[in-house]
Formats: sequence, structure tokens, C-alpha cells
Amino acid sequence: MAKKSDVCAFCGRKANEVRLMIQGIDAQICDSCAEQAHTIVKEQFGSGQKFDSKGYSLKKPAEIKAFLDQYVIGQDEAKRTLAVAVYNHYKRISQKVTADEVEIEKSNIILVGETGTGKTLLARTIAKMLNVPFAIADATVLTEAGYVGEDVENILVRLLQAADYDVQAAERGIVFIDEIDKIARKSDNPSITRDVSGEGVQQAMLKLLEGSVVNVPPKGGRKHPEQPMVAINTKDILFIAGGAFDGIERLIAARKRTNVIGYGAGGNEVLDKNNMLQYLSPADLKKFGLIPEIVGRLPIITHLNPLDEAALKRILTEPKNALVKQFTKLFAMDHIDLIIKDEVLDFVVEKAIEFKVGARGLRSIMEAILNDAMFEMPSDINVKELVVDRAYAEAKLEKSGMQKLHVGD
Ligand code: ADP
Repeated sequence: MAKKSDVCAFCGRKANEVRLMIQGIDAQICDSCAEQAHTIVKEQFGSGQKFDSKGYSLKKPAEIKAFLDQYVIGQDEAKRTLAVAVYNHYKRISQKVTADEVEIEKSNIILVGETGTGKTLLARTIAKMLNVPFAIADATVLTEAGYVGEDVENILVRLLQAADYDVQAAERGIVFIDEIDKIARKSDNPSITRDVSGEGVQQAMLKLLEGSVVNVPPKGGRKHPEQPMVAINTKDILFIAGGAFDGIERLIAARKRTNVIGYGAGGNEVLDKNNMLQYLSPADLKKFGLIPEIVGRLPIITHLNPLDEAALKRILTEPKNALVKQFTKLFAMDHIDLIIKDEVLDFVVEKAIEFKVGARGLRSIMEAILNDAMFEMPSDINVKELVVDRAYAEAKLEKSGMQKLHVGD
């Protein structure tokens, strides 16, 4: 009889009965069992490739915008700019550079607009469409290496994690850097008040933006001599930065005024004072306190408009995963028809504006209105329908105490 160690540990066949025996530490597996195991793994986890590392069918800018339209309300200008930027970015990645060819430079993007107007949503939706890894980094917690806070490299750690540690996929991912305005230098003139922390973080971030090989500790945290590093090349990573840049309108207006006086043209350009962001230029970002090198590495600038009542109302119902659709689905899972009257949507929007919570707060208001029903109705098999009108919504919001939270503001 063959020794136990000579046979396949799975099927028991001997070495001379199989084509190949693969040796393990104290057991072996034959080729056909290995193949079978591979099939089982594939069935369980798909092909094993979560992301398309290569060869995604690149959508045209108009198709990209149409995709964004399904999830993001309004912001047409930002969508068009983003669509072109993303199209060019992935076209650039797919180009094969030969010596005499023009190499297309990377173009990162900066989105400027009030908080809660859809900056993160746009970046996230683009990543979803492309099926590339996506990570959000909050610029406010970043510090220069050696200070308390997060190293800039941790941005890449998060991307690597989002890519399931597939380095190739991570190297084609998208990083959204939120609140980039918060690391602005506090003064336009570095010699007056030298805000070292802001400028230092910007310098550190520059390395990522311009495209270089960065060694990151795969588990995050501080660099540690014992921890093996993973090298990530950022040259094909698309960085989208976002920020509210509070007060930048004043800088834009000031620049515009100076221009008008400077050219002595009599100031015949009529400025739309309600939407000064449309005149945003790199000069304004520098004036705000981004160092010129960072501004240079974020060459595509676009802005998001404040959301008005009509836009907020559309956000409640229109996007593919609009709140009203989500709640309707939740109730439907308990076989309850949820009917939300139009007047309720107006009420929710009014409150979002009154509480100054914008689109971000729509969800909490809806939750407050529907929470009682979501608590009680699943246990009541006789309930088949819930009709929410304004009176119901007002009463529930009042009861939730949310109203009171905002009165003191
Ligand atoms: P920002 O990054 O500009 O601060 P977000 O993109 O995080 O804002 O928006 C917060 C939430 O508000 C989103 O998750 C989304 O539910 C909603 N929202 C904001 N703007 C829009 C928009 N233009 N269209 C649809 N939903 C939006």
C-alpha cells in the first residue's frame, strides 16, 4: 500500500495515477483536484477580479454625463467638465506611448461649491460608472509626516484597501480629496503669517498629485521599519479635489473689479452677483491660499451651484436611488404601499432650507417623519398602505424633536 504522504490528500490517487502531483508541506494534491478546487473558488468569488484593470469600454463624454444625470441633479456645467476630464484621463491611460508621440499629461480636477451640493456624489458616481476603486480622503486630518494626524500616504492606503489590495487596480483608481480648502495657507503672502501646517500638507500632497512612486504601509498607520511597504505609482490615479472655499466670491469679485479698472474698458461686463463662482479662475485659488504648484496640478476647475428649492425637491424623487424610492422599497418589503403626497415633498424641502441642512439633511427629515411608521407597521399585518400628507409629516417631525434642535441655531 502507498504511504499516506505519496497520495493526493483529496482523492487518494497515487503519483503514477495522475499527471502531476503538487507538493505541499506535509501533503500533496493532484492536478485534477487542484483544478476542481480552482473551479469551486471561482464559483464562490467570481473570476477573482473585482475591477477591470484594463480595457474598460470607455464611454464618450455625453454618455458619461447621461450616467451622472441618473444620480446627480443639476450641476450641468460640473458634469460636462468632469465628463470630458474623465474621458481624457482614461484615454490617456490607454495610450501606448512611443518615443516620438505626444504624451498627454494628467489632469486632476478641482470642484468648488458649497457643502452638500454634490461634489462627493459626482466623484463617487464617476468611479461607480468606471468600476474603478474609489477612496475619499479628508484633507483636514492630514498633516506633514512626523506631526500628529494622518500622513498623506494614507490616502493611497485607503485606495489600496478599496481595490482589495490589487495594486494594478488601485493605480487606475479615483481619489476624492475633500475639504482641500481647509489646508489653504491662511495668508496670500507666505512671509506674513507662515502657516506651516497648511503649506506643508500641500507640499506633501503635491507628490501624490504630480505622479510618482509612493511607498505605502499596506495596513495604514505610520511608516514602520518592520512593515513591508507597497509601491504605488500615482501617475494614472485621478485626483478630484473638492472644497467650499468660503468667501472666495469676494476674491473673484475683487479680481474682476481690478481687471475692469485695469483695462479701462468702462466695466461693461455685467457680473452675475448671485453666482460669482462661474468666474472662478486659478488665480482665485492661489489668492485663497493654495500654493501655485497645487493649483498647477489641479488644472481642471469647475464649480457647483447652490441647490435651490426646485433642485432639492427633484433630489427627493428623481435620482436612481432617490430617497422617496428607497423608502417606498423599504415599505414594499413589508407589503405596504407608501404614498407620499407632493405637499410633503414641499414641506421636507422647506424644512431642509429652514434648518440650513441642504441636500445632506433631507434624509434625516424623511427618517424623522417616517420613523414611527417604520417601527409600528411591520408588526401590523392588517396595514397595507400608508398615505403621508402634510399634516402627518408636520406632526411626526414635531414629535421627533428635530424641529427643536434647530430652533436654537
Ligand atoms: P459635498 O461633497 O458637495 O459636500 P455630497 O456630494 O456629499 O456633498 O452630498 C451630500 C448628499 O446630498 C449626497 O449623498 C446626496 O444624497 C445629496 N445630494 C447633494 N447634491 C446632490 C445633487 N446635486 N443631486 C442629488 N443628490 C445630491
